[in-house]
Amino acid sequence: MALSLQADLTLINGALRPDVTVHVGGDGRIIGVDRPGDETEDEAEGNVVEIFSATSGEFAAPQGRKIHRLRKRVLLPGFVNAHSHAFQRLLRGRTEFRAPGRPDDDFWSWRNAMYKVTQALDPDELEAVTRMAMMEMLLAGYTHVVEFHYLHNQKNGQQYDDPAELSRRVLAAAESAGIGITLLRVAYQRGGVGLAASVEQRRFTDPDLDRYARAWEATVPLVELGSRRPVQIGMAAHSVRALDKDFLEGLGRLAEEKGCVLHAHVAEQPREVEECLQEHDCRPLELLAASGLVTERFTAVHGTYLAAEEADLLGEAGATVCICPTTERNLGDGLPDLQALQSAGARLAIGSDSQVRINPFAELRGLEDGERLRLGRRNCLAPAAGGPVAPYLLEAGSAGGARAGQLGAGSIAPGQRADLVAVDLEVPMLAGVLEGRESDGALLAALVLGGDSSWVCDVWVGGRHVVEAGQLLRWPSAVEDYRKVAKRVWG
Ligand SMILES: [Zn+2]
Repeated sequence: MALSLQADLTLINGALRPDVTVHVGGDGRIIGVDRPGDETEDEAEGNVVEIFSATSGEFAAPQGRKIHRLRKRVLLPGFVNAHSHAFQRLLRGRTEFRAPGRPDDDFWSWRNAMYKVTQALDPDELEAVTRMAMMEMLLAGYTHVVEFHYLHNQKNGQQYDDPAELSRRVLAAAESAGIGITLLRVAYQRGGVGLAASVEQRRFTDPDLDRYARAWEATVPLVELGSRRPVQIGMAAHSVRALDKDFLEGLGRLAEEKGCVLHAHVAEQPREVEECLQEHDCRPLELLAASGLVTERFTAVHGTYLAAEEADLLGEAGATVCICPTTERNLGDGLPDLQALQSAGARLAIGSDSQVRINPFAELRGLEDGERLRLGRRNCLAPAAGGPVAPYLLEAGSAGGARAGQLGAGSIAPGQRADLVAVDLEVPMLAGVLEGRESDGALLAALVLGGDSSWVCDVWVGGRHVVEAGQLLRWPSAVEDYRKVAKRVWG
């Protein structure tokens, strides 16, 4: 699989460099980055392990390598989708109406529609829907997905003979799509404070930590399925409403023991905060921190209604917050205080969550646009000392997500996984952006604040070329399989 790529422009450490050659080894990792005529600076920065060509303007590839020249392309680190429920792709377009007598349509009525889908899917169908969503992610430039997987049981609530049956289906879907995956086996215990799981929720539940731990252990060997691709298995607490304090504490210990990432939905809705205050006399993130979950391996998903002290807890732990702007807007969740998180030192990542859109550019600009609307100012997430906003947002989209998914990926540097995305510089929407002075900064800003997933032309996952000239192998059959499921569920 040895491969060398050279685009017109390559994003390295937040800046665009011309004619860089990226060399990929047989293990799918970047083994060298060659920046012609830039050796002195490389050494000063101390971040280049190998330089293959020392001659400015010439490209002497290592023996036996062919350089794949990407003309009129900009090469970016692959985007990481740090929060996804792939099956919710089935809800696209199905919840955008107001039922008669329901002027108060909100998150909770959307949740009822989502439950209808979770009741309907058998294992084959779950796999078909998941594959479709993950293929769409690849076409959009996501090279890795962190799947927050909470559908575990049969429709009657009984475990499958293999408690990891549906996890296996999700991993198989990722394998056939060709995307890297961190599968988070989600813990879900109850319907809410003092409430057993409802009929609709019984496909999600593990009644106690022992059963959860056994199911998690049954999931770990499935990693072999993904031998051609990067696969990780992690843990998640669905939310503070779905688990009692004992379960949360046990989950924190288990994640610590296994050294894996741990995610949780946190403070997406005011009702969740109120219920937590009533049950525990503290706010959700405070409860999670007191239960031992909030470490540098922790990711809080949403964080829409965090108090300032909760943002500080995340920053002090070196934790990540995954914001899902297109979903949060679609569900009417609200706008999180990103400046508070940024200044507390929490890292940001993005997720497509409900799949209302699968477009990393839309999520990234959603971070900044949301702050602009919330504060009535501009360039809100740019460095406090001044500077452009786009590099920070791009970092959240790749390195921030890689951290949340426990990956050695997210930047174009030796040792990193070769998860790469080439974007077409010849689309008419970018005409003129590269002319004149400071055009590199203009290009990055135009990509992040106005870019579209349709501009993505090539994608590599672990050095494997999975999207070529905007096309994905087996895409037509995946769409056909998916249509059949949609027809049965909505027929
Ligand atoms: Zn979610």
